[in-house]
Amino acid sequence: MLKAPNKNNPFESWKIVSGPKLIVAGPCSAESEDQLVGTARELVHCNIDVLRAGIWKPRTKPGTFAGVGKQGLAWLARAKRETALPVIVEVATPGHVEACLEQGIDLLWIGARTTVNPFSMQELADALQGVDIPVLVKNPINPDIDLWLGAVERLARAGLQKIAVVHRGFSSATENVYRNRPHWTIPIEMKLRHPEIPVICDPSHISGDSRLVFAVAQKALDLLFDGLMIEAHVAPETALSDARQQLSPDQLAQVLQRLDFKRAHSDNAEFTTTLEQLREQIDLADETIIASLANRMRIVDEIGRYKQKNHVAILQPERWKEILTSRIDAGVRRNLSERFMRELYRCIHAESILHQEAQFKEDD
Ligand code: PEP
Ligand code: MN
Repeated sequence: MLKAPNKNNPFESWKIVSGPKLIVAGPCSAESEDQLVGTARELVHCNIDVLRAGIWKPRTKPGTFAGVGKQGLAWLARAKRETALPVIVEVATPGHVEACLEQGIDLLWIGARTTVNPFSMQELADALQGVDIPVLVKNPINPDIDLWLGAVERLARAGLQKIAVVHRGFSSATENVYRNRPHWTIPIEMKLRHPEIPVICDPSHISGDSRLVFAVAQKALDLLFDGLMIEAHVAPETALSDARQQLSPDQLAQVLQRLDFKRAHSDNAEFTTTLEQLREQIDLADETIIASLANRMRIVDEIGRYKQKNHVAILQPERWKEILTSRIDAGVRRNLSERFMRELYRCIHAESILHQEAQFKEDD
């Protein structure tokens, strides 16, 4: 979809990243010239790469602070002059794009509520046709990797070369500790399908709580994300949007200091040898697992044929309940989590039913 990246630094052509990871930080919203420039002046000391601020805010309900609009662009220009930090703004309409390009905004991001809408994405792609500006595309609010990639593809087709994606979590109908539940398998799948697209994490919008930001950011780095976008405000408790999740500049400095920026590989010979030995053990363990599963399915097939012959139904709820409980117990006794055992046996049972159905059909 995009050009193959340099393995060590996927942002090589962006010319804005000083370290191995892209660090974007700044307030959820620009609220006043003093708040924005004051925040920027402090964040410079955290060694961030890009200053963020929203000026058109996609709020859930009307009547809440919806951003300061176009006047904020001049404040961002001043923050940039004073700190030499490149600046990034959220755009949701062609009008926003035009205003940002006029004002010399360095990067753009597209919010979750815009990525979800193909009409909006196409309008943005059309407005950006032929413009060489980096764009960060947040995941859509629902966990749909193809919709997310569709948004990226619309921009790529418009000729944009510097595109990254941002995992900011997904809306969920059930209460949980996160404001937007992360689905780590989705950004991992994104990396597998498109290794050329840098993947960034926004731990602020996943957490919804400044106290969780560090742990989520660390998890992203452990999964080899290429950067972080973190909300920081000179006085978070007074923020007009997302007050609970924003870090003060001091807190951001501490978080960035404590984070372990994991490397993709190590050249250390002892590490490499030990890892190879352990991986051989894993390969053997996997062979045993696969052989056991194949053996189990052979027995399942035999039972299937026997049930068919005796006119007995495939599903035996009592037996299934007993298997599930006893296997979960056995797993938990060996330090495997209940959740994992339940999912594993659900999957094995579903496959066993398919196998027995196939036996029934063969005998028809
Ligand atoms: C934001 O970054 O302030 C924002 C509105 O993000 P999202 O689109 O992830 O909700
Ligand atoms: Mn926000």
